[in-house]
Amino acid sequence: MGTARLQNLLKKKWTEQDVLNMVGKYEQTYLGVAKNDRIRLGGASGGVATAILAFALEHGLIDGALVCRSRVFDGQRVRTEFYIARNLEQLLLSQDSKYVQTRFVPEALRLIDGFDGKLAVVGLPCDLTVLKKRIQRDPQVAAKIVFTIGLFCGHNTQPELIDSIIQKLRPNANSNLTNYRFRIGLWRGYSLARFDEDTVIEKQSAYYNLYQNLYFFCQKKCLYCHDHFAFNADIAIGDIWSYHLKNTNIKYNCLICKNERGSELISSAHDAGYIKLNPATIEEILDGQARGAPTHNNTSAKSQAAARFGMNIPDRHNRKVKWHQYMVAWIIIFNYNWSMNKKYSWLIFKIPRKFLKAYLVLFKGLESLK
Ligand SMILES: Cc1cc2nc3c(=O)[nH]c(=O)nc-3n(C[C@H](O)[C@H](O)[C@H](O)COP(=O)(O)OP(=O)(O)OC[C@H]3O[C@@H](n4cnc5c(N)ncnc54)[C@H](O)[C@@H]3O)c2cc1C
Ligand code: SF4
Repeated sequence: MGTARLQNLLKKKWTEQDVLNMVGKYEQTYLGVAKNDRIRLGGASGGVATAILAFALEHGLIDGALVCRSRVFDGQRVRTEFYIARNLEQLLLSQDSKYVQTRFVPEALRLIDGFDGKLAVVGLPCDLTVLKKRIQRDPQVAAKIVFTIGLFCGHNTQPELIDSIIQKLRPNANSNLTNYRFRIGLWRGYSLARFDEDTVIEKQSAYYNLYQNLYFFCQKKCLYCHDHFAFNADIAIGDIWSYHLKNTNIKYNCLICKNERGSELISSAHDAGYIKLNPATIEEILDGQARGAPTHNNTSAKSQAAARFGMNIPDRHNRKVKWHQYMVAWIIIFNYNWSMNKKYSWLIFKIPRKFLKAYLVLFKGLESLK
């Protein structure tokens, strides 16, 4: 059977209820890309998050943008750091997706409290929910936040995974890691690790994401989460994983404007020449997240599978769970628990990659079923 026929067979149909459950209310949807080549080429996807912030800073809508960059500590540990960017050069340092635990509450909220001026905030869906609660009870914070950009989010990962990957990449015991990029380039992209001045190791992003996509070392909070498209953002931005875009020479972002504020901002950034937009339907956007988003949103399956492992994940939706949805959730909880087991977690890195790839194909295959 041809790939196109198989894809058609597996193509999911999205009901209004699916959209409401996964996305919530929204106004406009687009595919987009940053017009400035420097921003576009440095982006995790099409650079639209950075382009919108650049537009807002350069047009005086905001005085600063709260963003997140990677930092290397002790020549070996890749961690994240929130900071407030005030110009394009500072914004560019935040490009790339950091697939490693962040510290939004202690770091970002403190920066927001201490900032005197108008702010935009980029964050993961869970972080923007925390921020929304803060805005609701603190008028000073409410007055500062002009808009928020939420990143689509499958899940995030504990630092143990990146630490082990860096160990594998290190050319020799004395090499010092000086810079790390999780994912750049077209389609799935590649990662870059720089050791000392002169050694740059480039790997397909799958080198890290093979473990990440199987939920090894997933953060515990992500098992409980159902927010893939940032319910509480003004604009939600993500990738588009549709195969017809695989061989294009531009990587697009998906954009969902969640409210009037988000819609106005997107059209102003477009009119000012910062982003290029193509119309897209919400169905196209969901097609591009057809595996990860329903899995993420399905707390019923996660709740049932977790019970088998003696864990309690509240079921927010009380949906009927199909056998393959249960299997997907079971694998997620099993792999999470395996990673957390101090005695056996090292075995994960002893599994030959070809077996892990087969495991991922099985996992994705189950996720693809309707
Ligand atoms: C943990 C994680 C999981 C993701 N899962 C998905 C997914 O399942 N599907 C999907 O389509 N997209 C996902 N994304 C989003 C996607 O990878 C891109 O970040 C998004 O498309 C924006 O791309 P861009 O080129 O416009 O951003 P860029 O111009 O490269 O800018 C990146 C922006 O993201 C911010 N940022 C990066 N990492 C973090 C972080 N960990 N916490 C807070 N802010 C951060 C930076 O501050 C910067 O403002 C995920 C991102 C992360 C960090
Ligand atoms: S999956 Fe949910 S809890 Fe986990 S990082 Fe993403 S938004 Fe936050």
